Amino acid sequence: GSQNPDQHNGDAAAPKYPKGVVLGEDGKPCRSCTSKADFLALTRMSASTEGASTAIAKTTPPSASTASLDPPDCPPDVEELGRGAWTLLHSISASYPPRASPTQQSEMRQFLGLFGKLYPCWVCAEDFQDWMNKKGNEPRVESRDRLGKWMCEAHNEVNRKLGKQEFDCGKWEERWRTGWKD
Ligand code: FAD
Repeated sequence: GSQNPDQHNGDAAAPKYPKGVVLGEDGKPCRSCTSKADFLALTRMSASTEGASTAIAKTTPPSASTASLDPPDCPPDVEELGRGAWTLLHSISASYPPRASPTQQSEMRQFLGLFGKLYPCWVCAEDFQDWMNKKGNEPRVESRDRLGKWMCEAHNEVNRKLGKQEFDCGKWEERWRTGWKD
């Protein structure tokens, strides 16, 4: 699947990158597709590999080669971007009307279609679009309840792909709108 970057990384003439580093369309490491840990492995490799060092110089500031895992004010990695994006997506569901008008439904479909096209991690975006386009997975935009549960299912699809625990979609509204009941 798209989590294995090796398929995008197999050109014998290209510098070799650590496993987990996903390349962008320009053939350079895609920061928003790669975790900080894997990106750090890349910067470490740059110390010993001239080819990779050239690639890094074009994608990160020089100070990043000695940066810790959590430098402040850096472009987001795949995880930080994902957390921010899910917060936005679930919050949009939480503020969606209990019963949506035809215009609101159409706007939400457009938003999700464009989101799937524009999401900066291209491997994430492709998988999200593929999932959304499968029969039975089309966005359910008739009401807040339906949209919220659909979003939760979309998120669970990614959770499964990444080997994370699935979330109980009966609780999406407590997590993202009302707060926990206790
Ligand atoms: P996140 O998964 O970001 O979740 C944030 C919070 O949401 C959790 O703490 C929890 O409270 C809550 N939550 C968890 N699951 C659900 C759910 N099902 N419904 C409602 N709330 C929930 N990363 C990759 O490495 N590869 C990918 O292909 C990839 N695809 C992505 C596709 C999309 C559309 C998005 C938005 C993100 C994608 N990500 C991908 C990022 C990934 O999903 C996580 O955001 C990232 O790994 C950080 O995970 P996290 O454990 O901090 O929590």
